[in-house]
Amino acid sequence: IVQLNDVHLTLASTAGPVNILRGIDLDVMPGERIGIVGPSGSGKSTLLAVLAGLERVTSGKVQVAGGDLNALNEDKLALWRRSRVGIVFQSFHLIPTMTALENVAVPLELAGARDAIDRARAALAQVGLAKRETHYPAQLSGGEQQRVALARAVAPHPALLLADEPTGNLDGSTGHAIIDLMFGEAAKLNSTLILITHDENLAALCDRVVRIEDGKVKAIETSPNTASRQQAAD
Ligand code: ATP
Ligand code: MG
Repeated sequence: IVQLNDVHLTLASTAGPVNILRGIDLDVMPGERIGIVGPSGSGKSTLLAVLAGLERVTSGKVQVAGGDLNALNEDKLALWRRSRVGIVFQSFHLIPTMTALENVAVPLELAGARDAIDRARAALAQVGLAKRETHYPAQLSGGEQQRVALARAVAPHPALLLADEPTGNLDGSTGHAIIDLMFGEAAKLNSTLILITHDENLAALCDRVVRIEDGKVKAIETSPNTASRQQAAD
C-alpha cells in the first residue's frame, strides 16, 4: 500500500538548501501496522507529510494507497487525500468554531459523502463520544478532542491511517485509550496504520518498527510479537 523509492526532499532556507529526506526506501503491506521512531529533527513528520500527500518530494517514487502522488495535480491530490488517508496530529487540529459533529461531518461532505451527518454520528459513537456531538473543542478534554480527531480520520474509511505523536499531549492512561481505539478502528476497517511515536513501548505494539535517522531509514525491525504470531500461524 506504500512504496517509496529513493525519496529525497530538499527545502530552501536562508542558510541554503536543507536535505530533510535523504533517500528513503519503504514498503508497507496492506493492513500492516508500522511504528516510526527516531530522534527529534530526523524527518519523521516530514515523511508523514509526504505519505499524506501534503508535501511534494524533490525526487523519488511515491506510491501510496493506489496513487502515484508525483503524478497527481493539486486538485486530484486533494481528492485522493480526502478519500484515501486519515491523519491524527499531536495537537488535535480541530476547527474551534465547529462542534464535534461538524468537525467530523464537514470533511465527509467535502469528500462528496451524501450521508455525511449519519456517518459522522456513527464515527463519534465508535469512539464513545455520542453524548458530545454538540460540544465545541474548547468544551472537551484533551483525550476527548483526540477522539474527535480520530473519528474524523476514520470516518471516510481510509485505506491508510497516519498518526504523528497522537499521544504527545495526553497523559499515560488517556494516551493508551486513544492507541487502543486507533488500533481497533484500523483493524475493523482493514486500514494500514503508520504511527510516529517517541514511545518505544507504543512502537513495539506495531508489526514493524522503522527507525529514521538523519532523513534516512536506519533500521527496520519486525516486532517480536509479530514474529511469534507468524511462527504460531505457520
Ligand atoms: P520531532 O521528533 O521533533 O517531531 P521530526 O523527526 O518530526 O522531529 P521533522 O519535523 O520532519 O522532524 O523535521 C526534519 C528537519 O527538517 C528538521 O531539521 C526541521 O528543522 C527541518 N524542517 C522541517 N520543515 C521545514 C521547513 N518548512 N523549512 C526548513 N526546514 C524544515
Ligand atoms: Mg515531528
